[in-house]
Amino acid sequence: MRRRLVAGNWKMHGSRASIQALLGSILAGLGDAGGAECAVCVPYPYLQLVAERLKGTRIAWGAQNVSEHAQGAYTGEVSAAMLAELGCKYALVGHSERRQLYGETDAQVAAKFAAAHGAGLTPILCVGETLAERDAGRTDEVVARQLDAVLAKCGKEAVAKSVVAYEPVWAIGTGRTASPGQAQAVHAFARKRLAPATRILYGGSVKPDNAAAIFAMADVDGGLIGGASLAAEDFLAILRGAGSAG
Ligand code: PEP
Repeated sequence: MRRRLVAGNWKMHGSRASIQALLGSILAGLGDAGGAECAVCVPYPYLQLVAERLKGTRIAWGAQNVSEHAQGAYTGEVSAAMLAELGCKYALVGHSERRQLYGETDAQVAAKFAAAHGAGLTPILCVGETLAERDAGRTDEVVARQLDAVLAKCGKEAVAKSVVAYEPVWAIGTGRTASPGQAQAVHAFARKRLAPATRILYGGSVKPDNAAAIFAMADVDGGLIGGASLAAEDFLAILRGAGSAG
C-alpha cells in the first residue's frame, strides 16, 4: 500500500508574516485533516523559519529546486547538502516552471535528482507535457523521455524511494485540471516504467472540489498543490480529500 502524500508548492510567494500565519492555520486544522502525509515546499529564505515552526509536527518541508553540483563557484545556487542540513526532507526537481522558464534539460534534471537523492533528500521529480504536446498525441512519449533520463542515471530503486509528480503543464495555475481519467491514464503509463512502490502524485489546479475524485484513481497517490496550498482551508480540504480517497 503506497502512503498518500499531499505536498504544497508555495512557489515565489509569501513573507515571514504571511508564512507564520499560513503555517499556524494549517497546523490548527491538521487534526481533522485525515491520515495522508503532508509537506510544504517553500522559498529558500523561509526554510529556516519553516524548519523551526514545523519541527516535531507531522508536516515535512522541502525546497523547490536544488543544484546539480555539490559545491563550488556556482553563484546563487543551493546544494542538496545545504538543504539536508536545514532538515529538508523533500526537494522539487524539474518543475515545469524550471524547465520552461530556466531551460532545465532532462539531463540537468537527472543530475539534480541524483544530487538530492545522494544527499539523503527525497526528490519530487516533476514530469508532464505541454498543451501542444498533448494535442499532438505525444503525452506518453514526453513523460517517458523525462522519466527515462532519471531512470537511466539513478535507477529504478532510487526513483522508488523518491516521489514522481505528473503535472501536465497545461493544467498548472490555469484552473484547467486533467480529468480523473486523463490523470489515471498517464499515471498508469508512468507506473509501467517504475517500480510498483513508487508514489506518483498528480499536480495541476487541484482544488478542494476536484481533489477527492482525482485521488480516488488507482494510480494517483496524492497531489502536488500550487495555488490552493496558499490558502489554509483549501489545503486542509485537499488533505482531507486524500485521506478519504482510496
Ligand atoms: C504546481 O505549481 O506544481 C501546481 C500544480 O500549481 P497549481 O496547483 O496552482 O496548478
